[in-house]
Parts: sequence; C-alpha cells; structure tokens
Amino acid sequence: MCYDLNDAFLSLGFEVYSEDDISSEKFAFDNLNFAPDHPARASMDTFWLDGTEEKRGNERLCLRPHLTGGSVRYLLKHGAPARFVYPGRVYRNETTDARHERAFFQYEALIVDHDISFASGKVMIQTILEKVFGRKINVRMREGFFPFTEPGYEIDMECLVCGGKGCRVCNHNGWIEVMPGGVIHPNVLRAANLDPEEWTGFYINIGLDRLVMMRYGVDDVRLFHSADLRFLQQFR
Ligand SMILES: [Zn+2]
Repeated sequence: MCYDLNDAFLSLGFEVYSEDDISSEKFAFDNLNFAPDHPARASMDTFWLDGTEEKRGNERLCLRPHLTGGSVRYLLKHGAPARFVYPGRVYRNETTDARHERAFFQYEALIVDHDISFASGKVMIQTILEKVFGRKINVRMREGFFPFTEPGYEIDMECLVCGGKGCRVCNHNGWIEVMPGGVIHPNVLRAANLDPEEWTGFYINIGLDRLVMMRYGVDDVRLFHSADLRFLQQFR
C-alpha cells in the first residue's frame, strides 16, 4: 500500500501545519542562522516585495524562498516537544530546466524533542519513503552544509524513473536528490526560544515535485505546470 505524504506523516503522529506565502527577512534568514552576507539573501535568489528591499528583518518582505522559516514560527507558537509537517509553495528567481521551476512545492518535516539524533532522523526518512512508495527504498546521505543545520545532509534516493540505470532526471547517475535535512542548529532553537541544552531537532525538506516524479515516473518537472491535458489526465 502506498500512502500519500500527509497520511504517512499523520500515521506517525505528525501535525499538518500551513502558513502564509509572504515571509520576511527575519523568518526566512535571520532566525535560521544565515550570515548577514550570505549569498542566498541576495535578490537574484529571493523575490523581495517592492518597497521593502531597503528595510531589514521583520519589515523586509519576500515570497518565502523555502519553508524552513515557518518552523521557528510554529515553535514560537506551540513550544516543544513538537512533530509537524508543512507543505507549501516556495519561490526562487532562478533559470528553469528539467529539474527546476521558479515556484515549486516543498514539504518540510520537523521533530523537536529531548534526544533527537542523526539516527532518529534517518529512521524517519526511511519510514516515510517506505510508506510513500510501498516498498523499501535505497537511500544515501551525503554531507551537506546549510546554515540552519549542524550537521546537515543531502539525502538521495534511488532514481525510480530509470530504476537506477541512469536517465536525464538523475543526471545519469542513478540517484536523485530528494531532500536536504539535518540536525537543527542550536541558533535556530534559540530563535524559537528553546534551550539547545534541553532540546534537539531533526528536519527534512522534501522536494515534492521530485518525489512525485519518482512516484509516477515523470521525466520533466515542467510538465506539472504545463496544463497539458494529455499529461495531467494520467493522475486522474
Ligand atoms: Zn534516473
């Protein structure tokens, strides 16, 4: 049996959370331990709202470039322990190709508790992918660097479009990067008013379009937004 992503997480006791597409520099970057000169803050990656570009923090508004800022908002509201997911559209000002779109869906999950480690994160990833695909999925975790994790990982799953043989979706190497993830950086917990001596967390941010490509064997992400009925009818 294949679960939808929400049902897979709900079956593990996660809450589904949503919030506004408009965020601010404070929630998109400051709270997440991005250095003041981090290139991701530059306008080439983030859509800043007209009239707020020269402001700072809470007053500098943007279309959320990722969902991670919402994690701090949730934790400020609900405290810890917590386990929740928040699906949503995110916006990047980047060139489109077979694997990238300017607006795309992501799906973030976060657990915060007293003893969350790399091992608990890996178990969460394996369990979710097994529920979504209805079978064991090969996963590999490579070292990855994100300001809001310590340590961070790039998490790959076997490419199901080609069965690991290599195709244009997986850059002909048989693996596809489906999510970054990692142990939450202490500064992010502090931004959420949580004591990092007491609380630890693990987060994953699933590239939802890629997961759907894997589940249905779709080889070009642009087809999702093409309104081509011949393409869309296969999901009815
Ligand atoms: Zn492939």
